[in-house]
Order: sequence, then C-alpha cells, then structure tokens
Amino acid sequence: FAPWEDPNETPLIQFKGVTKRFGTFTAIDNLTQDIYAREFFALLGPSGCGKTTMMRMLAGFETPTKGQILIAGQDMANVPPNERAVNMMFQSYALFPHLSIWENIAFGLKRMKMPKDEMNARVDEMLRLTRLSKFAKRKPHQISGGQRQRVALARSLARAPKLLLLDEPLGALDKKLREETQFELMDIQEKTGTTFVIVTHDQEEAMTVASRVAVMDDGKIMQVSTPDKIYEEPNSVYVADFIGDVNIIEGTAKKTSEDGYDILWHDGQEPFHAKTTRQLSDGQKAFVAIRPEKIGISPEKPEGAMNAVKGKIIDIGYLGNISTYHVELPGGVMIKAQQTNTRRLSRRTFTWEDEVWLSWTLTAGSVLER
Ligand code: ATP
Repeated sequence: FAPWEDPNETPLIQFKGVTKRFGTFTAIDNLTQDIYAREFFALLGPSGCGKTTMMRMLAGFETPTKGQILIAGQDMANVPPNERAVNMMFQSYALFPHLSIWENIAFGLKRMKMPKDEMNARVDEMLRLTRLSKFAKRKPHQISGGQRQRVALARSLARAPKLLLLDEPLGALDKKLREETQFELMDIQEKTGTTFVIVTHDQEEAMTVASRVAVMDDGKIMQVSTPDKIYEEPNSVYVADFIGDVNIIEGTAKKTSEDGYDILWHDGQEPFHAKTTRQLSDGQKAFVAIRPEKIGISPEKPEGAMNAVKGKIIDIGYLGNISTYHVELPGGVMIKAQQTNTRRLSRRTFTWEDEVWLSWTLTAGSVLER
C-alpha cells in the first residue's frame, strides 16, 4: 500500500474545505486534500493558481478564510508559524553573507538554544547529508549557486521539521544543475524521512521528484495522483494538456460495445476507435487525449491496426534522441507523432512532405468528457 491508499494511515496534513480570499478575490476555492508523512508532494500549476498561497497557509503566514488545516491531527487555526513543526525554504536562499556555511546552518539551532555538543553533531550531519563538509568554513559568495541551494536545504532541515515546504527551490539553477539537484533532493528527502511539499510550475520537475502530483487551476486541485497516472490517465483535457505533449482530438461519442466507443471526430476521417471504462452517452461530446509517442508512424498502412490515418509530414522537431513529426491529415487536422531515433539522422526514414500512416491502439488515448 502507498500511504494514500492505506485506510489505516492517518494523514500528516489535512486541508478540509479550505477557502482563501483576498478581498473579493478567491485564491483557494473550497479545497480538501490529504498529504501523508514521508510523501514528496508536488503542487503544480500555472502562475496565479494558488500554489504559494497553499504553502503560506501551511506555514502559518496566511490564515484560511474558511475551512480547517490540520497538521498531525492538530487544528492549526491558532498555532503561530514558529510553533509549527514546519519549515519553509524560499526561492531566494536568504543566506547570511557574513556568516560561514557552518554558521549559516547552525543559526536556527543557536537561536533555539540547542546544547553545543548536540548542535555541532547536528550541523556536521547536515553538512554530510548535503555533501558540503569541505565547504564548512567558506562564506556563501565563495561557493557555487548549486552549493548555496544545498546550504539553504541543510539549514531548513537542521531543526528536523516534520514538514518542509519548498517554493520553487531550484528556480535559480540552470537546466543541467537543476536536474542533478532534483535527484539530490529526492535522496535527501528519503534519507531524512521528512515530508516535502514542493511548489513548481515545471511539470518535468514535479514528475521527477514527487510521489504524488496535484495539478492546480484557479484555486482548485484538478487531479492528484502519482506521476505516471497523471501522465497516462489524465482526468481532463486541462490536466492532459498541462502535463507533457499531447494531441487532443474532439468528436462525438458512439457506443459500439460494453467498453468500446467510436469517437466521430472529423468529416472524412475514420472514427477513432477507443476503449474506456468511462460511461458516455451516444452523441455526447468527447475528447481523446493521445500522447505523441503512442502514435506509430510508417510508410505503409500497418496491417491490423485498429486506428490508422494517412497524412503528410509538414514539420519535424529534432531533439537528438527523439523526433516529433507534425502530420497534417486531410481536412487540416494536425497530429504530432514521436519516434525514438535509433538510427543516425542521415539514415532516418521520414522527411518533409512524406506521405505517412499514423496508427495507434484502442487504449493508446484517454477518452475524456471535458
Ligand atoms: P506563481 O507561480 O506565480 O508564484 P501561485 O500559483 O503561487 O503563482 P499565488 O501566489 O498563490 O499563486 O497567488 C494566487 C492568487 O492570489 C494570485 O492571483 C495572486 O495575485 C493572489 N494573491 C496572492 N496573495 C495575495 C495578497 N496578499 N493579496 C491579494 N491577492 C493575492
């Protein structure tokens, strides 16, 4: 059992019907969500959807207009930020420039008057955990951006919070360092067993680090699930479109068997044959979300394919390991199909203006109602 599937597990964090208004503006709209101990939980969504507001309410910097937030079963309504077992790491790492790395990490421990021996041991442990031991004596300006990020992390974990909130923690790092640091974050989260809630607008980052991802829009959580489920089984066009690349085909449903449907999607096109456990009524508007890599591309019509359409390549996006082919179907519909490049570019089979067949299986796409 994953903790969120285990009926005996009690959540570490509970949002119960939480609404947050700023004046007449609703930033969080009647939101109910549980987060479990040891989870790496990602809040993902476009700018302004309310991610930071949720974090700030957890930390105690904002209070809900309506509803309840519980941490470890305790209502947080009257608990000030400094009395919560919660720490927040900000995007700007806010290290003290005149203090050494060691002193930066020790700062919070000194303030809580931790005995000296215990403090020394704790700081050393944090330095080891974040692989910073040899930089202990340096000042923040004498280390790299990635190392500063790790100091900030070490400092926020030093007091052993139950919950660490990370607001765009890797925003200042370049792509390569960012990807490396994602794995470090996961490793440190696992080693400490601290619950991490991370805010990001980068879907790849959320998918990489998180045990579960909550996709938000307009103060609401649209779907919460594991990264693979969010990707493979989105519950709406919004989520499918927000996560990764996708083709959205719009049409009308027509039931053909117990779990089979034809999606009649365009004049002159064969219907899109699909299977789903979703119940649709005949004539209902429906969407199929299908990932580019689930679409095969071939010069001839593949034998026995449940879905096959002919089109013309009008654009190719080459990324080294993969290529994305933009294929125009009769009637002007555009479909993206992706292929792994196992051969050298010079020996690749397809080029611009080629007539090709696209094909996919009955279950390659997700049938959605909205
Ligand atoms: P970003 O990715 O840009 O940081 P976000 O999803 O974190 O966005 P929030 O910072 O939670 O978004 O803000 C949600 C909405 O609430 C925004 O429209 C914002 O303008 C509004 N908002 C946030 N704080 C306040 C405030 N103190 N007063 C008024 N409106 C606010």
